[in-house]
Amino acid sequence: MIEVEHLTKRYGDVTAVSDLSFTIQPGQIYGFLGPNGAGKSTTMNIMTGCLSATEGHVRIDGHDIFQEPNQAKRLIGYLPEQPPLYLNETPLEYLRFVGEAKGLKGPALTEQIGEVLRQTGLENVRGRRIAALSKGYKQRLGIAQALLGDPQMIILDEPTVGLDPLQIIEIRDLIKELGKTHTVLFSSHILSEVQAICGQILILSKGKLVAFDTPENLERRMTSNEIVFTADAPQDVVVDILVQTEGVSPLDLQEKSPGLTEARIGAEEELYDVSRRLFFAFAERGIALLEIGLRKANLEDIFIELTEKEAQGKEGQNHDGSAEA
Ligand code: ADP
Ligand code: MG
Repeated sequence: MIEVEHLTKRYGDVTAVSDLSFTIQPGQIYGFLGPNGAGKSTTMNIMTGCLSATEGHVRIDGHDIFQEPNQAKRLIGYLPEQPPLYLNETPLEYLRFVGEAKGLKGPALTEQIGEVLRQTGLENVRGRRIAALSKGYKQRLGIAQALLGDPQMIILDEPTVGLDPLQIIEIRDLIKELGKTHTVLFSSHILSEVQAICGQILILSKGKLVAFDTPENLERRMTSNEIVFTADAPQDVVVDILVQTEGVSPLDLQEKSPGLTEARIGAEEELYDVSRRLFFAFAERGIALLEIGLRKANLEDIFIELTEKEAQGKEGQNHDGSAEA
């Protein structure tokens, strides 16, 4: 478990992280989402003991990262934004070096190196020069070194940045796999990515936590209460039916082609009640609804909404989020 309490980091006049508090519970994949400059790397550098905080505390399983750095750091593996890889070495040499720095030696070190090479799919390139590896393989090596020492928690700073689409999928699959045996926190500025693999999403904007929730709850919070449908009828007939239907406020109507009308309406009551009523209103007139659906907000909408709120200086919601974790 990682506890972040009232964390603030100032660089001169710049406040990179502002009074940040959250708790990471074991056994889940957490996505740390925010645009460039939001403060993700700063937060992760502090959480892993690589950077001091201006104010606040970080505790890893109860060990304060500043007071008891050795105990705390042993529990986390970190892939920084720019992992320090030694290009003239081979993955095997590099992992040996990192493993020794983490206090491993002898057969235990050899065994662990074998294990992380297997986990990250690097066995076939372990003797190649790092300089000759693709960006995707270099990133896997960065993850492999984070896994050395068998930490329970893995923190990855933008692990998919700069990769091609195929490499991105491979790294995502690897993160999903690691999530089965580790607590994972990884940062990203790509919504669809965190939505696809995270059980919990923290959204950071301008150094502040603006949301902390499951992808499902974030979407639910933003349900737009709109119904879209296509009716097998001209526009005037659709208008005629809509004005006689309760709980419906038309937002947009268009006769796409003669006798085929697309409509977007706001539901003033429970969405499914209104959908049902619409369905039967059209059926009674012998008109088919060719398509009917709910227009749900996606995470993109949520992100814009949350970060705009923040920009307008309003308070974000759900600041600690620990209740859901
Ligand atoms: P992210 O990782 O979300 O892109 P960062 O944590 O790198 O964000 O940066 C947060 C803010 O802090 C940015 O405004 C950035 O310019 C500033 N910042 C980061 N590192 C430093 C530094 N060493 N000195 C001054 N400002 C910094
Ligand atoms: Mg960063």
